[in-house]
Amino acid sequence: MNTDQSLVLRTYAHATLTALDQLSGDGDFGDNLREGLDRVTAALDAHPDRPPYAVAASVFLDEVGGTSGPLIGLLFQELARAHEAHSDERDAWRAGIGEGLAAIQRVGEAEPGDRTMVDALLPARDALEAGSGPREVAVAALDGAHATAALRARRGRASYVGQRAIGSPDPGALGVALLFWSHARARE
Ligand code: ADP
Ligand code: MG
Ligand code: MG
Repeated sequence: MNTDQSLVLRTYAHATLTALDQLSGDGDFGDNLREGLDRVTAALDAHPDRPPYAVAASVFLDEVGGTSGPLIGLLFQELARAHEAHSDERDAWRAGIGEGLAAIQRVGEAEPGDRTMVDALLPARDALEAGSGPREVAVAALDGAHATAALRARRGRASYVGQRAIGSPDPGALGVALLFWSHARARE
């Protein structure tokens, strides 16, 4: 991530994701994601030779709280594995997102439409399978995240608040979509 992107994530994204998680959960998702990304940046600065996705995986799996921390950690773990297995970046990214989504669903047991990060990951995975480039994939993830605004949560803390969050997107889905957007920006 470059400075420009991390500035956007730190300001706009943090405030938005916090407000969304206050509406449907306990309000910590913005902090969890920002702290995780800050720790990844610090770890990569300290160990520039280590594979970035493996660093991100160990930070999110071991150090980031909330339900989202370990789940996003699984996504980074599969991206790290895929980058070891594939020399082509696009192949690695496609395989890693596919395996990452599968791992998140295995552990979190969320189905599409349950109003979770799965609703952003699934359309992104499908766009990748269809051969789309990073920007189209990010748009698919953002569309999926925005569509969660109409859904009632069946997983996580948000499942306890009933209709209250209807009209606003799921924070985890939007957060994951912003990671895709960040990835696409870095490739332009
Ligand atoms: P917590 O609710 O423990 O505070 P976070 O605020 O860190 O967790 O993350 C909340 C997000 O985690 C939700 O917006 C949702 O996208 C995601 N999430 C919650 N439960 C699941 C699940 N079972 N599978 C996939 N994603 C989930
Ligand atoms: Mg929360
Ligand atoms: Mg929490």
